[in-house]
Amino acid sequence: MIWPKSLNKQIETKVKLARLMSFKVGGPAEFFLEAADIAGLKEALVWARRKKVPVFILGAGSNILASSSGLNGLVIKLGGEFFKHVYRDGEYLEAGAGIHLNQLMLYTKNNALSGLEFLAGIPGTLGGALAGNAGAWGKSVGELAEEVRVLDYRGNPELLSAKDLKFSYRKSNLNKYVIISARLKLCPGNKNTIGSRIKKYLLQRNKTQGSKLPNAGCIFKNPAKLSAGKLIDACGLKGSSKGRAIISGVHANFILNKGNADSNDILLLMDLMRKKVKERFKINLEPEIKIWR
Ligand SMILES: Cc1cc2nc3c(=O)[nH]c(=O)nc-3n(C[C@H](O)[C@H](O)[C@H](O)COP(=O)(O)OP(=O)(O)OC[C@H]3O[C@@H](n4cnc5c(N)ncnc54)[C@H](O)[C@@H]3O)c2cc1C
Repeated sequence: MIWPKSLNKQIETKVKLARLMSFKVGGPAEFFLEAADIAGLKEALVWARRKKVPVFILGAGSNILASSSGLNGLVIKLGGEFFKHVYRDGEYLEAGAGIHLNQLMLYTKNNALSGLEFLAGIPGTLGGALAGNAGAWGKSVGELAEEVRVLDYRGNPELLSAKDLKFSYRKSNLNKYVIISARLKLCPGNKNTIGSRIKKYLLQRNKTQGSKLPNAGCIFKNPAKLSAGKLIDACGLKGSSKGRAIISGVHANFILNKGNADSNDILLLMDLMRKKVKERFKINLEPEIKIWR
């Protein structure tokens, strides 16, 4: 494959995805680019489109199950410092899509800006959080988004304002774009109060989800007014396993990788969870994680 000269040294081949995913599952990506800036990103998108190479955008990999057989296409991670900027503009926060939520939270705490605390413990980037409207404790990140800068898959920039943005439960209309940065509306707060709120959320999370084994958070979305975890638990599935993957004994909507789990082990467990919940409650569970194959 011939790629643009400027990307020659940057595009890698056969990069193992497992190390880039919180699940620690995933075979080799055909092509991989850690984009340093918008120019490189744009060039890669234009090239992929011309060559009909599928593109996958990777944040922190905390909501993805990537196939152990590998992936045909180009995986792009917004890894450059350019994508990790953050600065304050009054009550607004301007931040790159590649910045980790915990870094963002630290910045807002140090700057006495409140509003992001509910995201404490979500191990993703701002881009991934906006794409999937990440949330917890009844709040979600989309509520804070004032503007989002994106490139479409042809490499054209767009600035989306609040009226262009659509967010619902773990869903946004941003999946046809590469998110570059966002402007979030926060409010003035007190450093200590913000810090203790973050601590409280982290403690609660540890109690209900705590596991040291690799995972990708909740596997299924909660059906309206119900908890997917409780439905799966009621089917007696905690601790069920396939190969090296096991349904958590603490939170039944989590699948844990006991080491070297294959993506098929996880897909089989997902089938089992879906089938049992459908049989017992007549409810169809919808995956929250993104499946890359
Ligand atoms: C222990 C644990 C707890 C979790 N708890 C929660 C929780 O409470 N609430 C919650 O909502 N989620 C939770 N998650 C899931 C996950 O952390 C979030 O969904 C997070 O926002 C994903 O961000 P990411 O950067 O890891 O995205 P990735 O997993 O890398 O990608 C997820 C999706 O977003 C897309 N994407 C990523 N970056 C961009 C971009 N710049 N432009 C366009 N698309 C992009 C990807 O293509 C993919 O489709 C949890 C996960 C774990 C492991």
